[in-house]
Amino acid sequence: MQTPVFLDHLPDIDTVTGQKPAQYRLMRNKALLDLMLDDQISWQTRSTCPACGEPLAKSRSFSQSMLEFQRCSGCNTIYATRVPDQATLDRVRLGQVVEESDREFEFTSLLNWVSLTEARLERRLDKVLDVRFATQALGFVEATKRLSHNRDWSFLALTPDSDDFIALQAEIAVAAPKAVLLPTELDRVADPAALLRAVKAAVSPGTVIFAASSCADGLEYEILGADSPSFVPLDRLTVFSIQGFETLAKNLGFKTLEVSTPGRRDAVILERYFKSAENSDIPFWSSFFREADKNRLRDLQILLQRSLKSGVLRFVLET
Ligand SMILES: [Zn+2]
Repeated sequence: MQTPVFLDHLPDIDTVTGQKPAQYRLMRNKALLDLMLDDQISWQTRSTCPACGEPLAKSRSFSQSMLEFQRCSGCNTIYATRVPDQATLDRVRLGQVVEESDREFEFTSLLNWVSLTEARLERRLDKVLDVRFATQALGFVEATKRLSHNRDWSFLALTPDSDDFIALQAEIAVAAPKAVLLPTELDRVADPAALLRAVKAAVSPGTVIFAASSCADGLEYEILGADSPSFVPLDRLTVFSIQGFETLAKNLGFKTLEVSTPGRRDAVILERYFKSAENSDIPFWSSFFREADKNRLRDLQILLQRSLKSGVLRFVLET
């Protein structure tokens, strides 16, 4: 199994903690509060870890503010203990599409991921289906036209679906792709296992699935916990650990071809945290970040990627 490293330069901290991301977090929190106050919404209680199946009783509390989250003691995955139905989640997301100006790096990174994997597997992936990403990442369709030649792209729009993703399954089957890209769904859907099951049922054996999610093993989550700026509860109903996602994929009958944590933000987020005036002293890390220059931060981020400890995870699966 491959564990590649992806890093060229560190992002600007304002892309994570600036005014725009702060406003987006408030907007998503407001939407979550509205859902929690609406008695018409049906919520499903999770009694086991959505990744490895360990009983909720064995987990530890991760966050009690707003929605309750637990951290699984079996696999380290963080998850909300109850979730709204899928159609409601989808409707709320459709109501909050925000145009982010500069996502070129993210688009290039996804397209490179597909090309590099194709080269490594020595298998033509000339028909790729994007599942729901382009609906919220305005500009991705245009980026594929400009940057991804020799590949036929199709885009499955985000539309309110049922809990078992039956409509999505039918659409994927019609598209008959050689590869499926799922960059933003797994941490946001009510039941990630149901989504993966629907994808698997829709494609032919040997199809390659590119799945990404936020990663609970990331240093950012380890140190900041629920205070991490990436933790936006409505967008993070399940924050998978590597072990958790690996277990889920295996239990659903996928073969894991590649695991990586290409996150780029952990080092700059933690630097900002430790350099800000009010926070507790943590042995080693406090002085490490206070004295850190750009080179040290970059080295740390590479180390985190190599050790699968950065805040975003990516899996290449085969059906
Ligand atoms: Zn678990």
